[in-house]
Amino acid sequence: MTETTDPKLLWFSFLKIFTRALVQINLYKPDHPQVKLALEEGQALLAQISGALGGAEFSITIDKDELLVNGVPLVAADKLPNSLKNLYSKFRLQTITFLPGATGDDLLALCQVQAFKGEAKDFLKERGVERITLNESVYAKVDAGQTPGASVAAPAAGASAGDGNDAAVSAQRAPAEKVTDLITGQGLETALSTVVGRATLDAAEQRRIVEMLTAKFKEEMVAEVKRALVEVHREKKKVENDMVRAESVMTSMADGVVVVDKDGKIIMMNPHAEAMSGRPLAELSGKKIVDLSQIENQVVSLAKEIKPENKADISTEVLKTGPAGLAETVKKATTIIQNEDGKIVGSVSIPTDAAKLKQVEKLQQDFIATMTHELRSPLTSIKAALEIMSRDFAKGDSSRGILNTAIRNTERLNSIITDILDFSKLQSGKLIFHQESCDAGEVAKEGVEAMKAWASSKGVNLSVSAGLGVQRIYADKRRTIQVLINLISNAIKFTPQGGSIEVSADAGRDALDGFSFFSVKDTGCGMKKEDQGKIFEKFVQVASGEKVGGTGLGLAITKAMVVMQGGRISVESEPGRGSTFRVSMPVYKGQGEQPVFEPSPEELQEAKPWWKKLLGL
Ligand code: ADP
Repeated sequence: MTETTDPKLLWFSFLKIFTRALVQINLYKPDHPQVKLALEEGQALLAQISGALGGAEFSITIDKDELLVNGVPLVAADKLPNSLKNLYSKFRLQTITFLPGATGDDLLALCQVQAFKGEAKDFLKERGVERITLNESVYAKVDAGQTPGASVAAPAAGASAGDGNDAAVSAQRAPAEKVTDLITGQGLETALSTVVGRATLDAAEQRRIVEMLTAKFKEEMVAEVKRALVEVHREKKKVENDMVRAESVMTSMADGVVVVDKDGKIIMMNPHAEAMSGRPLAELSGKKIVDLSQIENQVVSLAKEIKPENKADISTEVLKTGPAGLAETVKKATTIIQNEDGKIVGSVSIPTDAAKLKQVEKLQQDFIATMTHELRSPLTSIKAALEIMSRDFAKGDSSRGILNTAIRNTERLNSIITDILDFSKLQSGKLIFHQESCDAGEVAKEGVEAMKAWASSKGVNLSVSAGLGVQRIYADKRRTIQVLINLISNAIKFTPQGGSIEVSADAGRDALDGFSFFSVKDTGCGMKKEDQGKIFEKFVQVASGEKVGGTGLGLAITKAMVVMQGGRISVESEPGRGSTFRVSMPVYKGQGEQPVFEPSPEELQEAKPWWKKLLGL
């Protein structure tokens, strides 16, 4: 055995002997001379090392990739013999500490522990080994002052000599502290130094590693930023393209388009809107929409109402402040712009040129009026001719039957034309009501009288009754009879042969103050609950039992006629069990006493009275 005072050489020598003993104990008995020799040499080396350390303990740690002696890195772990590595890994050891005075027997027990299946610590305890301890984190106890030999002590001393690596050194001295705790609040470079300081004590090496890591980090950051920039450029291009597209669509639109922000300030206008307002966007941009006198009324309230916290129906206000003719147009053409969180940030309005709109509306109404008139005159002549011809045939003659079918069809055509004409009159506001005092029973009787022939030809029993105490109503008699005729004709249409229809005028079960009632009750096909709310809308026909003709306008017109006279209409029905339509009309209060028809609170709450809405007024 070589006598040496170089601590590193001593450590290496001990490791060599210890490893040899680990191998030999697997091959020979403990009293084999080879084993004995190794243990003796081991004990001697331990005594020598302990002496060199001034009686301090001697620890061997395998930490990650290195073997450290008393916390000082000595050799890379992959250079170690397997027997030593296996001992550490089998018992999950981090450190083996040899206390001063450790004997060859202690060392023997340590070598024999390899074959033990339980906990290594227990094995040593059983064998009475006290001067060898396992797994204590002696690595934390390294101290520059205790580090033997100048070559090993130098880096640590250099590091603590104020070159800015104090953190690294303290990290080495107190590895028990978590690295994350140590580097919290440190800058990148100091944090790196701290972490690197735990890997090596060599200050030059530390610097090299920090530089290398910093360079790598920078390189990767630059690459990452470049990648992100490419993505941003691509997105920007996309947004620009979208904007160009949106702008070109806006510009080429025949309607005026105004985009306002949530405060109603103008963001964008297309040339048509500029022309309508008479001022260019450059002048109006950022100004409140109220500055646009041409379309002020249509969007002023919109701008006010557009605050996110106010969820009011914007079109309501538009209607209240805008000219009636334009309100619907603006309502239809207003789109609210919301951001990703659903907050309202602005709106786009497409105010249509009022004059143009009116012109188109008028053309449409004139066309319908002329067409229906032109259709009706020849139809009346055809019907009259058919009636004259049918008289020439005897009852039961097949030709008479054919002619009667033709007459019924002319009547159907006539009623469709009447519907369209009434509808167009309602739309243009030309349907005038001459309300006066009328006998409700008489109205019901006249309505039934007009439909009797058709009902009997269909084999449907049609009866009428007037309850006691029915008050006179304030109504346009002709129009109210028409209301009943519409309801009765529907009842006939939807009631099969053998069914019955009861028409009545009554004071009302709940005696609703100020109203008299009409009922048209049939035993026909009835309708589903979900359809009952829809039938009063224009052009709505719901699937009923049998397929019958019609325009889907009848009930819309009927409801409009009732409501415009201050009345109400409702339906109760059940599929297969018939329907009952009830109409309430205001009672006559006396000359000059009649209240002016006021819309109900519900109607006021709506964007516009429902009847105007349903007629598209
Ligand atoms: P149409 O001219 O097509 O009859 P209406 O507006 O008069 O249009 O009626 C709308 C729809 O309401 C009808 O298509 C029918 O489905 C339903 N309806 C109306 N009256 C009755 C009724 N008495 N019995 C069953 N369904 C009815």
